[in-house]
Amino acid sequence: DIDPLNICAVTVVPLPGARILPLTPGLDDALFAHDGQITKRDIRALTLSALAPRRHETLWDIGAGSGSVGIEWMLADPSLRTIAIEAHSGRAARIAHNAAACGVPGLRIVEGRAPQALADLEPPDAIFVGGGGSEPGVMEAALAALRPGGRLVANAVTLEMEQVLLALHASHGGDLTRIAVSRAEPVGSMTGWRPAMPITQWRWSK
Ligand code: SAH
Repeated sequence: DIDPLNICAVTVVPLPGARILPLTPGLDDALFAHDGQITKRDIRALTLSALAPRRHETLWDIGAGSGSVGIEWMLADPSLRTIAIEAHSGRAARIAHNAAACGVPGLRIVEGRAPQALADLEPPDAIFVGGGGSEPGVMEAALAALRPGGRLVANAVTLEMEQVLLALHASHGGDLTRIAVSRAEPVGSMTGWRPAMPITQWRWSK
């Protein structure tokens, strides 16, 4: 007998070896191929939250590294698009690999250096600056290209980039947030907090 209340039940059996991705941003770093240049998961989750994707929007991921931020942007909704700008050719190739492996092969990769590589790209609704922000003209080009209502989020690890963000905060407003994450790691036979380098994050809406 078929139970009429149960005939619509579908059991999804993943293929062996399939990667089942959770719905929330802040995916495990190990899900991305990377060479150490990656926005770590805790910082990435806060970054995606600040980028605040809405349907049909386009992100510029400047200095995309492994592509993790742009990939998580696209994973939030199928209508979202990412243009990843990355100067290092090996990393640009890795972004394509990661995008395909995470199920977002449509992510567009522009191999080149900002700000030159930004010319002629479709204007973005959101911009993440994960690299290159302290180079001349990069932040200016990003601020100018952002659509009205758009969000810009930039992370600084170095004092040079932090200085850029302090100046932008003074001239443009927005929010500055300092994020310091520590993880428990073995210390001999015991456990201790290992701090990651603190991040200064500037968030600005146009
Ligand atoms: N958010 C990335 C990590 C970024 S690391 C992730 O989660 O994987 C910073 C990256 O910026 C590096 O890969 C570096 O090659 C790139 N970069 C630095 N200056 C750049 C520039 N002017 N234009 C494009 N990419 C740049």
